[in-house]
Amino acid sequence: MTQQLVRIRPDRLMKTIQQSAEIGKLPNGGICRLALTEEDKEMRELFRRWMEESGLDVRVDDFGNMYGRRRGKNNNLPPVLVGSHLDTQPKGGKFDGILGVLGALEVIRTLNDFGIETERPIEIVNFTNEEGARFQPAMLGSGAMAEVFNKQTVLHTKDQDGFTFGEELERISYKGLQEHRPSEIFCFIELHIEQGPVLENERKAIGVVTGIQGMTWLEATVSGRTSHTGTTPMKRRKDAVRLASRMITKMYALAEGIPDLLVAVGRISARPNVINTVADEVVFSVDIRHPKNHIREQFEKTLKEELSMMTLVEEMELQIKDLDRIGTEPFSAEIIEVMENAAVTQGCSYKKMISGAGHDAKYVNRIAPTAMLFIPSINGVSHCEEEFSEADDIEKGVGVLFETVLSLANKQTL
Ligand SMILES: [Zn+2]
Repeated sequence: MTQQLVRIRPDRLMKTIQQSAEIGKLPNGGICRLALTEEDKEMRELFRRWMEESGLDVRVDDFGNMYGRRRGKNNNLPPVLVGSHLDTQPKGGKFDGILGVLGALEVIRTLNDFGIETERPIEIVNFTNEEGARFQPAMLGSGAMAEVFNKQTVLHTKDQDGFTFGEELERISYKGLQEHRPSEIFCFIELHIEQGPVLENERKAIGVVTGIQGMTWLEATVSGRTSHTGTTPMKRRKDAVRLASRMITKMYALAEGIPDLLVAVGRISARPNVINTVADEVVFSVDIRHPKNHIREQFEKTLKEELSMMTLVEEMELQIKDLDRIGTEPFSAEIIEVMENAAVTQGCSYKKMISGAGHDAKYVNRIAPTAMLFIPSINGVSHCEEEFSEADDIEKGVGVLFETVLSLANKQTL
């Protein structure tokens, strides 16, 4: 007998997402549901109820992260953890993060529908304050759970009105217990919208995410000499804008030949910033990203050498400050393979890709094998009310999530 393919229920899933979209609803289809506000509390209560109705054992840890546990055949085995976040940006969309949590709930409901028992327990999770819109930095709940952040620092983090994370957790009654953090995690899976245009452009249903892309942030200060724009011959000038603009052009030209490299000068300022004065100083930022650390590092080195040479030739000065440097966070090769097979089983086209944005998976990856699934974002937009994903893609994404979780929950090892 051939085994019947288990399908999720898209009507139920979309209804659940729609109910979530009512909490903190904005006029143009988006949501404002900042972490630890009344709206967040209301959403949490609803999510808790849904988890309980699905027979899950609900618990909350000391950072307000919510877990719902579905028992397996062997409850001594570490669980498969699956989820994302229910908080939003001030003008957020209704799928960012939410799909990952409510998709996980749909996975549980489907397992229940078909009476499927798994070897391992499965836990679904809603991480607190992923967006970083109210409390910075972003991904505070998952980072704290993974012990990337210090507990006291997290609890004392203030929003712009001076309310602390810890006080607000207590106010909405979601300050749980430290022993409610997962003691051991077999693996973590997060489904998310892509927030970029790649899947839509390439007409792929699923992104199998191989990691979170690393980045380097630099700040270059080019120093010349101020002089009168009407009286100083061009040859005698030490024009910081002229040199800086050549440097920036050089940087983009260098980057053009390197596949998958992303560079940008997003911030720039000139001094004294006056129309009839040659600028004596230009400060500009450089943002470099590439899936491979060594290529990003090599580019940074080459760029610094080129810019130094240009400065020497012009007899001017250049200082480059290293602002930040974060390595690419590679996900588990074993889980990536499981996801590829899951996409094939569900009949979905897929593409292996890196994530340009940070996600809860980034920090959970530090303590457990992790990987992510993406679905297309229409026009690649997010963090705005226009954020949208097609119902068909949502169904496929959660279908592949189901297949992935089911297969991992029956695995002995990775
Ligand atoms: Zn998100």
